[in-house]
Amino acid sequence: MTNIQRVTVLGTGVLGSQIAFQTAYSGFDVVAYDINDDALDKARERFNGLVDTYIADGVDGAADGKAKDALTRVRFSADLGDAVAEADLVIEAIPEILDLKKSTYAELGKLAPEHTIFATNSSTLLPSDMKESTGRVDKFLALHFANQIWKFNTAEIMGTSDTDPAVFDAVVEFSKAIGMVAIPIHKEKAGYVLNSLLVPFLNAAAELGAEGYAEPADVDNTWRIATGAPMGPFQIFDVIGLTTPYNIMSHGDEKTQKFAEWLKTEYIDKGYLGVASGRGFYTY
Ligand code: NAD
Repeated sequence: MTNIQRVTVLGTGVLGSQIAFQTAYSGFDVVAYDINDDALDKARERFNGLVDTYIADGVDGAADGKAKDALTRVRFSADLGDAVAEADLVIEAIPEILDLKKSTYAELGKLAPEHTIFATNSSTLLPSDMKESTGRVDKFLALHFANQIWKFNTAEIMGTSDTDPAVFDAVVEFSKAIGMVAIPIHKEKAGYVLNSLLVPFLNAAAELGAEGYAEPADVDNTWRIATGAPMGPFQIFDVIGLTTPYNIMSHGDEKTQKFAEWLKTEYIDKGYLGVASGRGFYTY
């Protein structure tokens, strides 16, 4: 049951395509599932882009044909039953909408073989929010990756109180087999480890900037010099892209909403969205 060989990834967007590609890159057979042929056409483009990115970023072996070779282990499907028929593990990376996740798990639970483990890559939803829909609470848990998994290679593994410890251990082993550093989390925690640290850190930085206590570059200097960290919080904002923190902050309390407003008027509205747009708190 715990011998994971065949993997299906649901959703081929930003994270799903990376998870599927990294899994294939590590030698596994992968099925990439998305809702229709249009989505799969986009997925093919994303996968081709990842071949170039792995080579450009110097991922071990990528330039020697390993990146191109990974593509030969990926099969695309827009038929859920077909996509999961032989899966040992299904990794779900569909949009962060609870009802959509629940209905997808309900369908998946009926179509997948009995032994198949389901793992959600959800960022803000907890696995227990959707576990009942899976029809197999003992074989369900969260496996949370960071964006750009080939270099930011943490895999946070977090079960519910119903997850079978053998399933948890199998997913820990699987994450290592695809080149991740496994981070087992012993009980459910919104934000896992990374966002439990990062969100308050970025909020604190936004307070210093938005309320005029210090310039963003000086906040970053302080953090880098005094702790030896390679990046300060505003550099991290730029890497993430300002829109995601804006969306999170604008749903927070009154104080955080003020920080969101500052991000919007001073940066986002001017087109300063972070590294990807060439300018954020810094110019690239
Ligand atoms: P995305 O919008 O880029 O991709 C979602 C994909 O799911 C699209 O290709 C879409 O066509 C497909 N989809 C929609 N409905 C579907 C369904 N019913 N079945 C299968 N596929 C369906 O989203 P994303 O950024 O890749 O995020 C996906 C999940 O990963 C979310 O839960 C998100 O919270 C999580 N996550 C995202 C990041 C990130 O940095 N983007 C990081 C960690 C975790």
